[in-house]
Amino acid sequence: MQDEQIVAGLHCGEVLADLSEHLDGRLSLDRAERIDEHLAGCAECRRLLDEVTAAVRVVRQLPEEPLPPEVEELLIESLHD
Ligand SMILES: [Zn+2]
Repeated sequence: MQDEQIVAGLHCGEVLADLSEHLDGRLSLDRAERIDEHLAGCAECRRLLDEVTAAVRVVRQLPEEPLPPEVEELLIESLHD
């Protein structure tokens, strides 16, 4: 078994490096499409994607950080307008 293969012109390592940004939708459309193509053709990366997706879901369930006071103040001000 190969450690790394090239699918859709990308190495698995490149896909993994961009995976969290991809999940956050922070990649350019071209890049995101290329990575989706790689994932479609690479079972190993799909498995990792599942793991990362599950981990992200857990993180997002944690309570959010409280707002910084200055932001809270602005919000309250705008509500009272
Ligand atoms: Zn791969």
